[in-house]
Amino acid sequence: MKTPDSRFPIRSLFRTSVAASVLTIAAAPLISLGHEDFSKPVVTTETKKDANGNDATYMYIDGIKVHETDLTKQPAPPVVTPGSPAAFVAPPSDAIVLFDGSAKALTDNWTDTKGGTSRWNVVDGALESVRSAGYIQTKQSFGSCQLHVEWASPSKPEGEGQGRGNSGVFLMNTYEVQVLDSFENQTYPDGQASALYGRKKPLVNVCRKPGEWQSYDIIFHRPLFDEAGKVTRRATFTVLHNGVLTQDHTVLSGGTGWMGPDCASEYKSHADKLPLAFQDHGNPVRYRNVWVRELAD
Ligand code: MG
Repeated sequence: MKTPDSRFPIRSLFRTSVAASVLTIAAAPLISLGHEDFSKPVVTTETKKDANGNDATYMYIDGIKVHETDLTKQPAPPVVTPGSPAAFVAPPSDAIVLFDGSAKALTDNWTDTKGGTSRWNVVDGALESVRSAGYIQTKQSFGSCQLHVEWASPSKPEGEGQGRGNSGVFLMNTYEVQVLDSFENQTYPDGQASALYGRKKPLVNVCRKPGEWQSYDIIFHRPLFDEAGKVTRRATFTVLHNGVLTQDHTVLSGGTGWMGPDCASEYKSHADKLPLAFQDHGNPVRYRNVWVRELAD
């Protein structure tokens, strides 16, 4: 082994310094292997009496209550007008096409939650949610993926808040990217279109008008769990709504299941791959041009 070249002390120092840096970089994965930094986002819970005197759990994410309706505490995302009307863009060659507008695609690729024939309808080349038909899910299961979905809320809007054009895109049948008619329709920000439901509001509100086709492009990395069922790496979401960034590699702090007016579900260990699903929330929301590309974890 050569000794450092004493004729070039600065170069020797540089080499030593570089070697130390490499060691630091090499050591980092060993320190963090299987153990994510869970310091952010910070989730806290508190149990106290609700307005009816019953015990209720309140969940806070980075100090803001889940489903906070007070816009002075949880400001609504700024409204951005999307660009040109959405154009139908054909799937790339390596995509798995889940819905191409045909009735055959519905029966070939989708079922109800029990594995039976879904009662959702194909109307004018779109997959339409039917009240009380339940969620629709893919026959094939997926983990980390890139997902393209186009959706439209009913052209004649009815209801308000969460009752207007509500559906949802569920990754791994578990984690919801909210679908909602959020065009001039106020609700709690972590429940509007493109929110990770109850967990993270979108960066902006770029919703199109009722009845207009909109797109979601979602890059999802699934959570990992250890043998005891504890989450060791949380899911991440990057979402573009109508081509505009609304979730920027967001770390999903827990589950997105509705657990009450101020609380969402927690992570629960599950399989490495699960179906994709769309929510029946009682509103005839439509979907088309649904395709997916599987990603490495
Ligand atoms: Mg929903």
